Amino acid sequence: MPTRRFALLWPGVVVVLDRVPHGVGPAWSAMDSIQQLEALKRSARNRFLAGRYGLVSVGADRLSRHKFQQIVETLDDLPPDLVRNGPIAGLSLGADLGLETYGETVDTSVAIGLVTCRGVGNRPHVIPGLTLFQATVVHEIGHTVAFADQRRLQTAFEHVFWPGDDRARGQGRPVSTYALLSASEDFAESFLHYRYNADWMARSSPERYAWMRPYVFGGREFRARARAG
Ligand SMILES: [Zn+2]
Repeated sequence: MPTRRFALLWPGVVVVLDRVPHGVGPAWSAMDSIQQLEALKRSARNRFLAGRYGLVSVGADRLSRHKFQQIVETLDDLPPDLVRNGPIAGLSLGADLGLETYGETVDTSVAIGLVTCRGVGNRPHVIPGLTLFQATVVHEIGHTVAFADQRRLQTAFEHVFWPGDDRARGQGRPVSTYALLSASEDFAESFLHYRYNADWMARSSPERYAWMRPYVFGGREFRARARAG
């Protein structure tokens, strides 16, 4: 549950500090890549992320091996156009954001806090199969996607789900309690659930699911039935 949160806004720059609810542990794809990663030296990790995703990364060398693997798995799981040459340009891992802040988004850079990169990140997220660490990464990338191109998607999302007074509760049913905090958190949480909790979201928050599909994910779906097909 959130215990502290700041959101600062000034022209062209958005800062969101997050404490994301807890939530678990997974088995993902990209095992070939993972095996290659096993052999990768810590000192080469930032260069690896630059080459594979075009991200300016710092701190990857500070991660435990399994968390670095989770970074790669998570980035591989997202549509490539949202990562490589997409809205996210920088990835700072193990940044000192304080104990209460799990992740932070500043313009096109995502920072994942030190506390998230350590033991607490191993906790399960409420989405089955996902660790808190992975969920935080995806949530923050959701913010960068929303804020890109002068907040184009964030503005469109707010027009539909948070009309009028910004303090008004979002329209329809948000995907989590954290999403009730603001339109920005609503977007980031919807982004996370669309990718990793699609079956549930399609049933529980059908309006947000139907909006995310074309406008954010270009029609790509991650429901079990869609994957099977
Ligand atoms: Zn957030």
